Amino acid sequence: MNRKCHHAQSKPVQLGNLEEKLHSRSLKITGPRQAILEVMRQERHPATAKEIMAALPKGICDLVTVYRAMHLLEKIELVRRFDFGDGTARFELVRGNTEDHHHHLVCTACSLVVELEECFPNALEQRIAQTSGFQRLSHRLEFFGICPKCQL
Ligand SMILES: [Zn+2]
Ligand SMILES: [Zn+2]
Repeated sequence: MNRKCHHAQSKPVQLGNLEEKLHSRSLKITGPRQAILEVMRQERHPATAKEIMAALPKGICDLVTVYRAMHLLEKIELVRRFDFGDGTARFELVRGNTEDHHHHLVCTACSLVVELEECFPNALEQRIAQTSGFQRLSHRLEFFGICPKCQL
């Protein structure tokens, strides 16, 4: 159950280089954006804009600013957006190392999110690449179910 994925992301980004990445695209790191990245660094699970807002220092910005920042950070691939089917977008920091690759198990009743380190065998992706002629394959995989608490 604890098997790690062996396929690395194609574009490694060092955690410490996030600000540099912003700089290199000549984007200003405003106070709120900096604070949002900091919150996301601490966050283990994909978080909604409201959750990120709640974790920010009081009065640093409003929800609209958070939404705009998330949109921007997603565009420059610093965060990844998830739609778990409950109509609320969730965001997760792209950590860019091999440990970064994981999947989610989502409770459809209470939206609990569990991180899964397990992935399917690399051979499957290689086979798909070979038969299709595609290169640099990646994938997304989300599992849904009812968590133990919601089964009561
Ligand atoms: Zn649940
Ligand atoms: Zn995987």
